[in-house]
Amino acid sequence: MPALHDASWPSRLVLLGHPVGHALSPRMQQAALAAAGIDRSYEALDVAPAALNDTLAELASERAAGNVTIPHKRAVASACVEQTPLAERSGAVNTFWVAAGGTLCGDNTDVAGFEAAANALLRGAAMCDTVRDVVLIGAGGAAAAVCVVTSSWPECTVTLLARDPARADPLTRQFEHVRVEPLTRAPLPPAQLVVNATPIGLASSAHPVAIDALPRGAAVLDLVYARAETAWVRAARGAGHPAADGLRMLVEQGAAAFTRWFGREPDRGVMWRAVTDRETPGELGG
Ligand code: NAP
Repeated sequence: MPALHDASWPSRLVLLGHPVGHALSPRMQQAALAAAGIDRSYEALDVAPAALNDTLAELASERAAGNVTIPHKRAVASACVEQTPLAERSGAVNTFWVAAGGTLCGDNTDVAGFEAAANALLRGAAMCDTVRDVVLIGAGGAAAAVCVVTSSWPECTVTLLARDPARADPLTRQFEHVRVEPLTRAPLPPAQLVVNATPIGLASSAHPVAIDALPRGAAVLDLVYARAETAWVRAARGAGHPAADGLRMLVEQGAAAFTRWFGREPDRGVMWRAVTDRETPGELGG
C-alpha cells in the first residue's frame, strides 16, 4: 500500500511516561499506522515530571500528538486548554493532540478501554447484570477511568483501596458511589468485581492482593498487562476466578486514540497481534 499523507494529521506521535520502557503502545500503534499505510512514526519519550511542561510546549509547537501514561495523566489534564467531557470528569488525560491555532487538547480513552475490557470479562462469565459491588485498588489516572464507567452501572458501589487514602480525595469528591479504605492485608470486602489499577505486577510477579483475600466468585480485572498475562491473573484463574489482564483495555484505548488523531478506525486485530502471542479474542471493539 502506498504511504498516505495528510497535512492535517499530527506531525508525529509520542507516548509520554516515566518510565516508558515497559510500554507496548509504540509497537501496537506503529503496527496500526503501517496497516493503515499512514506515513507517521510513534515513539516512547521518557519524560521526568520536572520536564513535562517544557516537553508539552515543544510538542504543541510541532503539532505532535500522543498518549500519556504513568505518572503524567493528571498533570497533562491540567496542562490541556481544552478537554473532552470524559477527560474533565476523570481529571486525567491519556490522549492529546493540538487543534488549529495551537490549542493543546486532551481526551481520556482509558474510559472506553476499561468499559470494553470489563464488558468482555463480565459477559464471558455471565456476570453482566450482577455487579453491584466493585473493589478498586489504586487511586490514580486509571482508577479515575474505572470510577467514570462504574458510575453508570445501576446501583454500583466502589470500595477504593489506597495505600494513602488521602490520594483518593479527588475521586471521592467527584464520585458519590466511591468510598475509600486503606489498602491492608485483610480479606477484601464482598464484591463481584476486583480491579487492580496500581502498577503492582508490571515489573515482577507480585500480586496487588493475595489470591486468598479475593471475595468468593469475584471476577478479577488487572489493568496491568503482559504478553503472557500477569502472574496475578494466572493465579486468580487457577483459583477459579474469571480473570483478564489489561491487554484488551490497551488495544481499545489505543484504537480510540488512533481514531481521534486520524478520523478513522485502526485494525484492532493487527494491534492485538503486535502486542501478544495470544490468539485474537472475538468481539474486539465490543
Ligand atoms: P498512576 O496515576 O500513577 O496511579 C497509580 C496508583 O497506584 C496510585 O494510586 C499509586 O499510589 C498506586 N500505587 C503505586 N504503587 C503502589 C504500590 N506498590 N502499592 C500500592 N499502591 C501503589 O498510574 P495509572 O495511570 O493509574 O496506571 C496504573 C496502572 O494501570 C499502570 O500499571 C498502568 O500500566 C495500568 N494501566 C493500564 C492501561 C491499559 O490500557 N491496560 C491503561 C491505564 C493504566 P500513590 O498515589 O500512593 O503513589
